Amino acid sequence: MSRTALVYTPKFGDYDLGASHPLRPSRVIRTYELIRACELLDAPSVAVEQPSAADEETLALMHSRDYIAAVRAPSEGRILQRPFDYGLGTIDNPIVEGMYEAGALVVGASLCAADLVYEEKADIAFNPGGGLHHAHRERASGFCVFNDVAIAIAYLLEKCGDGVKVAYVDIDAHHGDGVQEAFYGRRDVLTVSVHESGRYLFPTTGGVEETGEGEGEGFSVNLPLSPYTGDEVYLWAFREAVIPILEAFSADFVVTQLGVDTHFQDPLTHLCCTTRGYMAVVAEIGERAERWIAAGGGGYDVTVVPRAWTLAFAHMAGAEPPEHVPESEAEHYRRDDKPVPLHDAGGPKADDDWLRVTREFAEASVEEIKQRIFPYHGLAEDDD
Ligand SMILES: [Zn+2]
Repeated sequence: MSRTALVYTPKFGDYDLGASHPLRPSRVIRTYELIRACELLDAPSVAVEQPSAADEETLALMHSRDYIAAVRAPSEGRILQRPFDYGLGTIDNPIVEGMYEAGALVVGASLCAADLVYEEKADIAFNPGGGLHHAHRERASGFCVFNDVAIAIAYLLEKCGDGVKVAYVDIDAHHGDGVQEAFYGRRDVLTVSVHESGRYLFPTTGGVEETGEGEGEGFSVNLPLSPYTGDEVYLWAFREAVIPILEAFSADFVVTQLGVDTHFQDPLTHLCCTTRGYMAVVAEIGERAERWIAAGGGGYDVTVVPRAWTLAFAHMAGAEPPEHVPESEAEHYRRDDKPVPLHDAGGPKADDDWLRVTREFAEASVEEIKQRIFPYHGLAEDDD
């Protein structure tokens, strides 16, 4: 049985970009409460770890000192000149008090997860507050201030020294641009992002042709999907294109961003997956992740995210989740008097035309990955 850790602190609630901002802290708080109510923390193989904030040296593994100072300015009572240069003061990334501390805490939580797995205190560690994959070296973006997942990877590389291999798998509906960018020229970090095509969705990047550069050529994998892609097509494409590469790469550590904005109810995206499809993908990754650092990510329907991440954590802990949301938490999910299933009770019905459109789109992406990426991993283009 795997030893599994949940990295959590109620202070995750401090990552609050404002009352009308879609990245609501309750996504993470409710996740913890639901995991606890489902009694998933009671098993002897499960531990809860309290993170502390990352220090500036660690933030500098990914971010420039100028940018770190810019994020810190409001905490020090300084007025930031030209905030837009740093992606701050926008609708997505408003300047809020304490954003430095809240961002550094999220990074600290992913480092805590990395440490637990690196030091073999846990086989799997999950930071539901993490997964801020859009933050760039010198620019906040897409609700993300500091890139906790990229920093955790850089930290593992530094700790382990030469020869270690890290696979990053990002199943958020948005392209994992910040992480890809950070390791674009490296072959010891495989970055994989499966997302709604950038033609239709922020941050517009993540085309199949972004395959890495120099030494890293063939080690950035992008699988864009069409709007309205559902479980069946998503899973088919993931198994066809991503799994062979993941197996061939054979990472020492797997870092995942488990955003669940792929869900059909998500208000910000157009994919049409259910918790069943989501969990099938999580299980596929988990099977190939002996040492697994998992982070949360996007997902903006607060009746979906905690259920999906609770199911994911149950899987990590090797536990059978209950069929229904326990009564003590049900009020947050309930639409009528009936018990609330933990998994989606149903899903969208795709008509044949949409199924054909999404399938053709996925087939084209998969084919291109086979042509562009497979040869770098000793895989034949026509490998099944
Ligand atoms: Zn997202």
